[in-house]
Parts: sequence; structure tokens; C-alpha cells
Amino acid sequence: MTCSTGCKTQDHTSYAACLSDKAVKTFLASPSKGLDGSTQKRWDAELSAYRNARSEGIQPDGTTMRKVTEAVKASDKTGMAYGRDFNVATPMKAEAA
Ligand SMILES: [Zn+2]
Repeated sequence: MTCSTGCKTQDHTSYAACLSDKAVKTFLASPSKGLDGSTQKRWDAELSAYRNARSEGIQPDGTTMRKVTEAVKASDKTGMAYGRDFNVATPMKAEAA
């Protein structure tokens, strides 16, 4: 038997495969920690959008989908790579009290 004692399927080819499979399932099934599959999926989408933008020379202000989309849109509009060739003016911020 190569599986760990807590394994439900008991069909893994190695003890390591069994443990890692169990770890992945545990990770994806932890909505109480905000680590459910959909959150992970959103992170993945944001990160891949961010990486795509960076590969085109664009440097978004952040890794969130909104920042990346803004940077890509601004680059499309101007034909230049946002963050590298140009940048938007920093918005005025209320001074700290
Ligand atoms: Zn197993």
C-alpha cells in the first residue's frame, strides 16, 4: 500500500503522489480561509493577464485585473506601452491630516 492512511481513494501510485493530491484538495476546499477554487482561478486570470501585459512591455500599476486592463486599454489607445513609454498623471491625493 502506497497511500497515506487518510486517503479516501487509496489508488495512488506513490506515497508522495497521494500526499500532494490530498494537499491540493485540501487547499481548494478551504472557502473559510478565502482559498476556494474560484478565488484561485481569479488570481490565476489576473496573474496571466499581468504577465501578458508585461511581455508586451506594459507595466501596470498593479497586478489586479482592473489595473492590468486599464494599462492595456491605455496602451491600445496610444499605441505605446503603458508604464514604459508613458504614464498617466498621478491623481491628486488628499493630504494626510
Ligand atoms: Zn492516496
